[in-house]
Amino acid sequence: MFLTGTPPQCQSKTQAFLDQEHCLLIDGEWVPAASGKRLEVTNPATGEKLSSVAEGDSEDVQRAVFAARRAFESGPWSKVTTSERGKMIWKLADLLEAHLDEFAELESLDNGKPRAVAAAADVPLAVDLLRYMAGWATKIEGNTLPISVPYMPGAEFHSYTHREPVGVVGQIIPWNFPLLMAAWKLGPALATGCTVVLKVAEETPMTALRLGHLIQEAGIPDGVVNIITGYGETAGAALAAHPDVDKVAFTGSTEVGKLIVQAAGQSNLKKVSLELGGKSPNIILPDADLAAAIPGAANAIFFNHGQCCCAGSRLYVHRSQYGEVVKGIAEHAKSIQMGPGMHPDCQMGPMVSQIQQDRVCGFMNSGLSEGAEAVTGGQPGEGQGYFVEPTVLINTRPEMSVIREEIFGPVVAAVPYDDEDQVIAVANDSQYGLAAAVWTRDISRGHQVAKQLRAGNVWINCYNVFDAALPFGGFKQSGWGREMGHDALELYTETKAVTVQL
Ligand code: NAP
Ligand code: MG
Repeated sequence: MFLTGTPPQCQSKTQAFLDQEHCLLIDGEWVPAASGKRLEVTNPATGEKLSSVAEGDSEDVQRAVFAARRAFESGPWSKVTTSERGKMIWKLADLLEAHLDEFAELESLDNGKPRAVAAAADVPLAVDLLRYMAGWATKIEGNTLPISVPYMPGAEFHSYTHREPVGVVGQIIPWNFPLLMAAWKLGPALATGCTVVLKVAEETPMTALRLGHLIQEAGIPDGVVNIITGYGETAGAALAAHPDVDKVAFTGSTEVGKLIVQAAGQSNLKKVSLELGGKSPNIILPDADLAAAIPGAANAIFFNHGQCCCAGSRLYVHRSQYGEVVKGIAEHAKSIQMGPGMHPDCQMGPMVSQIQQDRVCGFMNSGLSEGAEAVTGGQPGEGQGYFVEPTVLINTRPEMSVIREEIFGPVVAAVPYDDEDQVIAVANDSQYGLAAAVWTRDISRGHQVAKQLRAGNVWINCYNVFDAALPFGGFKQSGWGREMGHDALELYTETKAVTVQL
């Protein structure tokens, strides 16, 4: 269902921010790109210009890495106590919370997502993550270790470990949750005492730039967080290949993830963590509560317009309930109110860009031409922006690209199964292993299935449940390492073992 009528304007302070000529944040200064080039930012709901940012490239990355190195080695950051560090991150969280409305508007206008969803989920989750990580700043501990050293009989030692910041970190983030991905990356890096060069997605730079101003307001010293807007192929690649970057953390496609690994290997063997694509299975067992499972399966794929790395894009339903579930999810899809994210009733906005709209439609068309059928959807949406109808596909085959590849759009393939053991094998038959879910009233069975699913995140009788304390990341080609939770600290620290002979 497409919403009609013009959505409300954003607040004047949001508009004033959009109207600025945005620059790069390097060493505490907002500076133009060395090349002087600029990038236009588009509102995906209209296809019109939203704002303009600097087009940073390798020269700007070079300046930013230099600033981050200085801040790490000799700047005040290295002398800030863990307690002060925690307070600054907490203050950043408070500032972000105080500007929730503005961030929700910026995110909606830049990415296309409903303003209401950004206000209820993206911004509060980012605030929560920062607070969670602020708490860790004072709790990153080493161990004392009893050692024996068999070839030094009689000698006595005192050994302990330190966890130290990995150093200068390059962070490259995507466009699907622009603010949240910035928070997921910055939170643990700051808590552990690293310094950062953040390369934001070319499509969605606005909230990270606004966050840059709050980072300054929170008192985080110059050079600790540097923010580069620009293209992946230039600025992103320069960061991944930079010999003075100690670690790169990347979220995005598996394809680019492989390029990051190559660049790290060919430069200085920097540490790499990756949060990549998915093709997540969502399994409804015959005893599931369909009143919960059907809307749950719809949320699994349609949340954030399917632009989630963990989207439940392969829905497996026992044949005895297949008709009922397909009908239910198709009805849900038809009821979704689509339109500009700023519309107060909007439940689904546009895809982030024309490229993504074309890409999603390309996948749908390939599935349809190979014999799949769209029970509902299957078309670009109405309206001027980059809309795609929420789509339910049936009659797919395991080898089709709509089953094998990440579509990153509101397209679910519903597949019937007969045998419960066989459905686990089918669910695991993917190059990806990011998320999975199972719906059942038999909680023991739910745990047994969860154990067999090869995925970093498994939900039982729910989907898309995220929390700052829950580690998130993938098996197989869905990535390396875990973000959020205690695990995220591992990504940003090195262990040093110190031994003294007594
Ligand atoms: P992408 O190319 O992987 O972009 C992610 C980030 O990497 C962006 O900041 C991008 O910059 C940057 N980048 C691109 N090429 C790079 C390179 N050679 N070296 C270093 N950084 C580079 O993703 P996309 O093109 O925006 O989307 C394509 C597909 O990726 C989607 O359809 C989806 O399947 C998948 N994806 C997955 C996630 C996820 O959360 N796992 C998120 C987004 C996309 P630019 O913005 O300038 O390109
Ligand atoms: Mg791209």
